[in-house]
Amino acid sequence: MKKALMKIISAGLVMGMMVSATACSKKKAGQLVMATNAYFEPYEYHQDGKIVGIDVEIAEAIAKKLDMELKIEDVEFDSIIAGVQSKKYDIGMAGMTVRPDRLESVNFSDSYATGIQAVIVKEDSGITDLDALLEGDYKIGVQQGTTGDIYMTEDPMVGDARVVRFTKGNDAVLALSSGKVDAVVIDNEPAKHFVEATGGLTILPTFYAEEEYAICVNKEDTELLEKINKALRELKEDGTIAAIIEKYIPSEG
Ligand code: GLN
Repeated sequence: MKKALMKIISAGLVMGMMVSATACSKKKAGQLVMATNAYFEPYEYHQDGKIVGIDVEIAEAIAKKLDMELKIEDVEFDSIIAGVQSKKYDIGMAGMTVRPDRLESVNFSDSYATGIQAVIVKEDSGITDLDALLEGDYKIGVQQGTTGDIYMTEDPMVGDARVVRFTKGNDAVLALSSGKVDAVVIDNEPAKHFVEATGGLTILPTFYAEEEYAICVNKEDTELLEKINKALRELKEDGTIAAIIEKYIPSEG
């Protein structure tokens, strides 16, 4: 009953967003508008008044190849796909995992990086691995609409009642620190940054899932998709992508 009502409300919201997006979409020619959620270090985050990170640098390199000017819109993760669908944004790039359900709404480019869904707990929590987390009656914080949210909600061992959703990953981590949730399921690299910044937290040695990150594009924009894939291929071949990733995630040794 509650779920059905939520569905109706969120369908209404999505439709409302689509209408307003079409009504006010004023994109300039030659501009590549990228929607992201810039609270996801090292992929996209705010630094010295600018949005920087792996995704930003790869997007800049693609835009340059396409002879376009990159414009970044910092929005909630959960609204990126709807905004690309309504053509409010040209691309969505936000450490975004390729998923079959998302492919029903948008196309994805070739993958440019891999991610892992990691689990953050308090150092003294007594939760030592993934099984203990799933089997216990723990509350799990996630970032709304992300794969962490989807996996936990759909996992028969966990389910909706144990999932607490936040619009920013950082808010989920703060809730973990203050004891409102017992764990956070989130992408591994941002997890490392959150743990470093917060203290008293640790990442479990067992992960939930491995994923492929890619750029999402409106289903009608097949020409743009092809151009992006061509640019990605070139940037992989000449070592640009590896260098950008190495800059933000230095390999050990
Ligand atoms: N990789 C995750 C997803 O696609 C999380 C992305 C994010 O929070 N920016 O859902």
